[in-house]
Amino acid sequence: MDVIRLLPDSVANQIAAGEVIQRPASCLKELVENALDAGATHIQIIVRDAGRTLLQVIDNGVGMSETDARLAFERHATSKIKEAADLFRLHTMGFRGEALASICAVAHVEVMTRRKEDEVGTLLEIAGSEVLRQEPIACPVGTNIKVKNLFYNVPVRRKFLKTDQTEMRNLIQDFYRIVLVWPKVQFTLVHNDEILLELPAGSEKQRIGQLFSRSVKQDYTAAFVDLKVETEAVSIHGFVGKPESASKQPQQYLFVNGRYMRHPYFHKAILTAYQGTLTADANPSYFVYFEVDPGTIDVNIHPTKTEIKFQDEQMIFQILLAAVRESLGKFNVSPSLDFDVEGRPEIPTRDRSSQPSFAMPVISNETHYNPFHSRQNEAPREWQKLYDGLHKPEAELFAKEQVSVPTGTPTAVGNRYIVLPDGDGLMIIHRVRARACVLYDIYMRQISAEQGVREQLLFPDIWDLDADQIPLVQSLQEDLRYLGFELEQLSPLSFSVNAVPPQLNGQNALQVLQNIVADVMATGSSLRTEWQKSIALTLAYSAAGGQQPLTDSEQKELIDQLFRLPSFTRTPDGKIVLLRISEEEIARKF
Ligand code: ADP
Ligand code: MG
Repeated sequence: MDVIRLLPDSVANQIAAGEVIQRPASCLKELVENALDAGATHIQIIVRDAGRTLLQVIDNGVGMSETDARLAFERHATSKIKEAADLFRLHTMGFRGEALASICAVAHVEVMTRRKEDEVGTLLEIAGSEVLRQEPIACPVGTNIKVKNLFYNVPVRRKFLKTDQTEMRNLIQDFYRIVLVWPKVQFTLVHNDEILLELPAGSEKQRIGQLFSRSVKQDYTAAFVDLKVETEAVSIHGFVGKPESASKQPQQYLFVNGRYMRHPYFHKAILTAYQGTLTADANPSYFVYFEVDPGTIDVNIHPTKTEIKFQDEQMIFQILLAAVRESLGKFNVSPSLDFDVEGRPEIPTRDRSSQPSFAMPVISNETHYNPFHSRQNEAPREWQKLYDGLHKPEAELFAKEQVSVPTGTPTAVGNRYIVLPDGDGLMIIHRVRARACVLYDIYMRQISAEQGVREQLLFPDIWDLDADQIPLVQSLQEDLRYLGFELEQLSPLSFSVNAVPPQLNGQNALQVLQNIVADVMATGSSLRTEWQKSIALTLAYSAAGGQQPLTDSEQKELIDQLFRLPSFTRTPDGKIVLLRISEEEIARKF
């Protein structure tokens, strides 16, 4: 007997819905994007019970004909692309033709829509992919869609929804991500009969102010400087917060071609531009908008994904870094400690004819990397090559062979530096970076030996993640174990952290894990060896932190360990570990 059969459309749609519509926020996002694609200039959103009971979007866009209204709910029915090649020149928010089909598979949907050339509009009622009613109706031009009782027929999904407060937070977050790129569109957001946000049309800067100013008196945007750069490959504009306005809860938004994106690598570029200007644990806010040829990015990864791949990520990194530096520089943001001096890329001019070329970072992909093969070898290790490219070639402070193990007695300077007599001068060691180098070496060995030490937690921590981070964390799980983290998946979106590395010294393990995930994503690599280096480095920095004083013997041991490394003048990510001040320099100061 043959056993294979095709699933009925209603079932197929329900399965697809699981992908596209995960929660009320994703449903609302699809509806609002449709309204924007329809050219609406005014969009009203009405939400009840965080979207569980009702999500309604009323727009004044082009509306749909009777036939189109019906077709819109079929799977892969879209007016936005015709052929595969269109995927590479996308200018609309939607294109898959999946959203409405998915939504009507898992909710009661009611649409009223009319085009301006039609006398009467269409009313359509659908539930569980079945059309219940279709009739002409008098209604304004545009589309008014109600999505009721989301997931009414998918009890598991409904059960997995979080509290109203959490769902509403997600919904507002997605809403922000949209309205920040559509300042010329007027939005109203109503929740349980209360107006939450009323956003008149305006400029980008005004929209930012509308969303984030705490009161009418405060101008949130006053703490920002403009950012603007145009090159062949990309134009970037936006607003970056002045360093003094950095905070523990910054607003950080990246957009490309009118779409919100997460891009840890570009985030890093921005943070790098602030280097040395921020106090510990304060982070800058920024709103940065990229425009690129749609053919050079890939948005087609996953319907709910916010990660976007760019063709020229490394070049854009450099352009962005330089542009942010320039913007901050204009406002006299002073440079930093000598320890933080790094090769500064040329500032790109806006004049295309005299565009400077950027030093392109060279990132090597060493698939067979073994950290111990080059031990006796004096050549820099692979991880150094990896990071060298990120910094402009700059003369090393001193040639390595000139540094011999210092024999004098080390003295602590504050809790940050260690000073040693060094020949006829002084050597200053950056304590945290020195320790990071030492730990990095240890961690890389643990990974390559596939074993490490861990400390069992009496009360495991629960680590909640975004759906799109889960696969990555799953694939990091084993390497994390060699470093001491024992993770166990608890539910589709959470892990329990049962053990942590002993060196964490009471640091927040979840925070460290979050940083690890962000940094691994920032490598933009899919190679496990790259991930391992990234994990080891992030953990090394986390564990190296802390300003408590060291005893004399601890200091001595740190220096011994440092000087036993095959390379110790710079951290794996290229930061300076040692400074030498010669007698002449000291004399000059006098
Ligand atoms: P996509 O947006 O990917 O094309 P959807 O399922 O979201 O797929 O929508 C299917 C089609 O329905 C759209 O291509 C569009 O033609 C039409 N549509 C959906 N919402 C609206 C709206 N608010 N106004 C006008 N047309 C709409
Ligand atoms: Mg759509």
